[in-house]
Amino acid sequence: MRVYIDFDDVICETAKHFCCIAKELFDIDLPYQEVQFFNLKKSFDLDDDQYEELMKAGHLPQTLLAYEETPGASEIINKWVDEGHEVSIVTGRPFDSYEPSRRWLDEHGLERVPLYCVDKYGREQFTSDFTFSMTLEQLYGMTFDFAVEDSPAAFEHVLHFDNCKVAIFNRPWNVKAELPNENFVRCADWDEIDRVFRAGA
Ligand SMILES: [Mg+2]
Repeated sequence: MRVYIDFDDVICETAKHFCCIAKELFDIDLPYQEVQFFNLKKSFDLDDDQYEELMKAGHLPQTLLAYEETPGASEIINKWVDEGHEVSIVTGRPFDSYEPSRRWLDEHGLERVPLYCVDKYGREQFTSDFTFSMTLEQLYGMTFDFAVEDSPAAFEHVLHFDNCKVAIFNRPWNVKAELPNENFVRCADWDEIDRVFRAGA
């Protein structure tokens, strides 16, 4: 199968790290379980400047490299690769965070899995030519049979893949989101994602 896997809050614990950064920078105490919106500006109730500062701090190479792995992610992804499935990590991170993101994957045993930065949220200027970056149109031109996502904002993107089964990693900001159709299945952790994957493989 061709497999699409999101990066943040699917294979690493990004939001938990952002809660620590918001505490350090602005003394905002928001427990991870209360992060209600995928939009962190809204979740942390920040003004434009604060939001920019938070995003900058969160995407510094040393910060990105420190993100904790979501339990089971690398082990299960490697199992799929061993079985011959074609796995890609597709992230909405800024294009210029490709290098540290690539390094994070390599350091967590995911050297064999390609990483693509896609402008999922319309943030990029496309002034640079990065080999592993793409527009949404380019992403929509690809085919995937299985996807793992956490963000309700990305539902519309994965809906472009014909008959693609989508595992939604349960997170506080998506528990109330309505799933678009029966191809979408909620999963509590990577073991459950693997079970859904096996059922369709
Ligand atoms: Mg994500």
